[in-house]
Amino acid sequence: MNVQPWVIHPRHRYIPRPHTHREQRSASAPRALTTQQPLTTQQRHIGGAHLGSHDTRDSRTRDPDMQGQSASGSSAEQRSRRPESSGGLWDSVKKAAFVIGSGLFLMAAFRNSITWHLQKFWGASGDFWQKQWTNVYHLFGGNEWALFFVGTMVVPTLAFWLFNALFIVADLTGKPTFITRYRIQMDKNNPVDPVKLRQAVKKVLANQVFLSMPMVVVAYKVMRWHGNPCSLELPTFHWVLLELAISGLLEEIFFYYSHRLFHHPAIYKHVHKIHHEWTAPVGVVSLYAHPLEHVLSNMMPAVIGPLLLGSHLATTSLWFTIALLVTTVSHCGYHLPLLPSPEFHDFHHLKFNQCYGVLGVLDRLHGTDSVFRQTKSYDRHTLLLSLTPLNESIPDKPRKED
Ligand SMILES: [Zn+2]
Ligand SMILES: [Zn+2]
Repeated sequence: MNVQPWVIHPRHRYIPRPHTHREQRSASAPRALTTQQPLTTQQRHIGGAHLGSHDTRDSRTRDPDMQGQSASGSSAEQRSRRPESSGGLWDSVKKAAFVIGSGLFLMAAFRNSITWHLQKFWGASGDFWQKQWTNVYHLFGGNEWALFFVGTMVVPTLAFWLFNALFIVADLTGKPTFITRYRIQMDKNNPVDPVKLRQAVKKVLANQVFLSMPMVVVAYKVMRWHGNPCSLELPTFHWVLLELAISGLLEEIFFYYSHRLFHHPAIYKHVHKIHHEWTAPVGVVSLYAHPLEHVLSNMMPAVIGPLLLGSHLATTSLWFTIALLVTTVSHCGYHLPLLPSPEFHDFHHLKFNQCYGVLGVLDRLHGTDSVFRQTKSYDRHTLLLSLTPLNESIPDKPRKED
């Protein structure tokens, strides 16, 4: 893979602030405000970009083994379950390539003026983080491979398991109620089947040890080949933000299309069906997948950004950690206050043929969120800013007095 023409070297120093990027990746799909929605719903929603009209020919995948479950769906859902045609998918890809290509072109054209403004805003405050990085670098005696391994494998994996430990306790014990009262599918995983959970944990560990680790070795070789990911000088804060945004966009593109490909009836039953054994997912299910899917759909979409951009280790480490925490949230099964909404991907696990992406941008473009947007889950798909669970504030059935 020749990535040389894409190399952009970090130039300055920065202060990493994961919070800002998490907001950007808050899994709140941009929405068009339509006249069908009640005003209160519109007011709560974040974002409003309408990226294109629905292409009714594409995106109607069905799970050949899940028809029994789909029988309980609404008539709109029933209508949407048609086999996917490859022509429709190709049209969608072309449409997406045009919109995203134009966006990237504009971003490239205005990169210099954008970064100048950001640098002016954030500059002159990177000394603290530069000092920390220099200390860590010398602590490892300048062993850049060891630094790279710790930054891209140990730190994100530890963050993943620590975060998941919280959810595992909640899933197994039903406590603390502060977490479990926010459960999305109220009648599921209460408590979770411990045998099924143990099996998921084992598979995730195997994926991390036997697939993620070797991929990190390859990533190091590639990144060393066209740059120095462990440079002593940190990139600036604004540069990190820009790289996180681009990596997020690339992940959306590569995850969406690889995920849809894995839903193709000819491939689904051999690969992606494993991930969909969980119609009500829990945190660790985020990496519970067939080895092929783990490499192509979990790892590659996240690795592609740092590889193409030649990101600094600090940026890559931060990005992998954010990506793992966000995917955990989107699978955890609880819609907790102040965390990105998991409704979108939870709905994907429930219905199979909706909501394939991470951010929801491409689903809007291809119309693969059309059924989702008619549901209560869509009304709940927002950043929860109060302590009242959304199942209570937006109940499935209207109250009698309504
Ligand atoms: Zn999933
Ligand atoms: Zn899927």
